[in-house]
Amino acid sequence: MSIETAAVETAPRSVLGEPCVLLKLGEVVLKGKNREIFERRLQNNIRAAMRGLDFKVEIKQRSGVIVLRLPDGSTVEQADQVAERAADVMGLVWVHRAWRVAKEPEAVVAAAVELVAGRPEVARGATFAVRSRRRDKRFPLTSMELDRLVGGTIHDTYGLPVRLKDPELTVHVEVDQSEVFVFTDGIPGQGGLPVGMSGRALVLMSGGIDSPVAAYRMMRRGLKVDFLHFSGIPFTTAESIYKAYGLVRELDRFQGGSRLFVVPFGKTQQQIKSSGEDRLQVMAQRRIMLKTGEEVARRLGAGALITGDSLGQVASQTLTNITAQDDAVDIPVLRPLIGMDKTEIMAEARRIRTLAISELPDEDCCSLLAPRRAETKAKIEDLRKMEKRLDAEEVAVRLADNLQEYRLDQTTDQASGQAAPATSEPATRA
Ligand code: ATP
Ligand code: MG
Repeated sequence: MSIETAAVETAPRSVLGEPCVLLKLGEVVLKGKNREIFERRLQNNIRAAMRGLDFKVEIKQRSGVIVLRLPDGSTVEQADQVAERAADVMGLVWVHRAWRVAKEPEAVVAAAVELVAGRPEVARGATFAVRSRRRDKRFPLTSMELDRLVGGTIHDTYGLPVRLKDPELTVHVEVDQSEVFVFTDGIPGQGGLPVGMSGRALVLMSGGIDSPVAAYRMMRRGLKVDFLHFSGIPFTTAESIYKAYGLVRELDRFQGGSRLFVVPFGKTQQQIKSSGEDRLQVMAQRRIMLKTGEEVARRLGAGALITGDSLGQVASQTLTNITAQDDAVDIPVLRPLIGMDKTEIMAEARRIRTLAISELPDEDCCSLLAPRRAETKAKIEDLRKMEKRLDAEEVAVRLADNLQEYRLDQTTDQASGQAAPATSEPATRA
């Protein structure tokens, strides 16, 4: 993006037309007759993501692409800002900063030549190719003629060799109904489906590395999510809550309007502990977390729980123990990381910018009262017996009654387009 910026800034604006942002849709275009609903949802989410910018962005749907137009006289930096926000909206595969020029071959050629001018590829004589597409077939030149005309001029101007297969630099020309877009490489979008398209779910969010990645993965499949965190309070510090809050804040850029609910869990953990089944402590805790999650999900209208479990990663995530966890609830538990290695999960956490927060030290409620040796093959019967003594169902309802809600500042809910009411730094809304 910055490379492109450097290139175009040297060009007179009359040649280049006006900066805009071109968005390429991925799977959304494959959805047959549901496509219109998808596109509308996507547009609403884009609109929500642009809220808060100090200029207006117009959204235009074209066949297979969305064009974001900025006000007349907008700068390249403003277009960059728009592109950066668009790159976080689920459902887009490419985000291109483009130039919108008049529908005349001369204007297209001039823009393409200027666009290439400041590119580092020019100095090293890199290979290039021009790829033209016409969405309006009435344009006087065919795509191939456009390729030749634009490519020939770039070749003559800079002496760069043309290479159609795997070029180092690609110049794209797209002829539309009332304008032509000229652009070089873009930034990859998130892919997936627009948030809200698949309904709602509740993420069980620790302060760790995995659950934020799990949340991201499911948002990318079109789920609008809320977050539920269990804190060891009053037997731990509030650190894990701040981490969870920080993680939700980071993830919020993919959906807007995120809510974090915190359960003070320490006393319940102690209650489980005093039931004396040391090796089952973690599993019993996990089942009550799920039961509480189910109750909260019911109240929020969420259709699934999401966890960061990965098969065999820790004792509670053996196949037997995962089965025993699912036994605790009727609601589906989605585990998008189930087949991923820790290194893969960490790479993704780094990319979505949650890793650094997850790696901060905290006192996780799970390490509180954790047994020396955890059971890897917990028997469902034993867990159920234990829960009967504890009256686990009632405990879960009581925990759900005592949630603390944290909302993020001024973020806009992509799925509903509603701005969340502002509260300050993790301010509690009990
Ligand atoms: P993470 O890195 O997300 O903490 P983990 O590798 O530490 O995962 P576990 O501690 O076994 O794994 O947790 C498995 C899953 O259970 C988490 O991904 C999360 O969904 C849920 N979970 C664990 N602890 C909490 C908590 N304190 N609050 C909410 N959910 C939790
Ligand atoms: Mg954890």
